[in-house]
Amino acid sequence: MSPDWLGEPFAFKNNKLSLTRKVHKRLLAEAQEAFPYEYSALLIGRGAAITDHIPMTSPKKDMHTFSWDGAAFLRALAIIREANLQWLGVLHTHPHTPPIPSQSDRNGWHYRSLSYWIVSLASSEPEWRAYQWNEGGFDLRSYTITEEA
Ligand SMILES: [Zn+2]
Repeated sequence: MSPDWLGEPFAFKNNKLSLTRKVHKRLLAEAQEAFPYEYSALLIGRGAAITDHIPMTSPKKDMHTFSWDGAAFLRALAIIREANLQWLGVLHTHPHTPPIPSQSDRNGWHYRSLSYWIVSLASSEPEWRAYQWNEGGFDLRSYTITEEA
């Protein structure tokens, strides 16, 4: 059995993956602020509803890959557990390329129950995609944006 803080946002038949408008807006603002570098964040909430996020700083500024400092990642997980929330996914940007998982994205992702978001800032309109890892590849998933509860 998975620990309670590790969410399963795709496990709910009648409850689609969702993101609050407020979090959506803040993620985009922070992503654009980080441009031309990659931005990444942990997405947190309960069940299938993402209601908050934790920005993750990268140990090295990189335009093409994202990586986390191990201690910062453990701190973020502690925050999630203390808040009695669940880790529901990660988001990172592709500042210069479409929102398609790269080879290093494929190699670096091991949490198949979580959602994997990519926001491309390569064209004038930001492009959002949510994926789920499934046996060797990423499947595109749909989601809804919800107003604040
Ligand atoms: Zn990527």
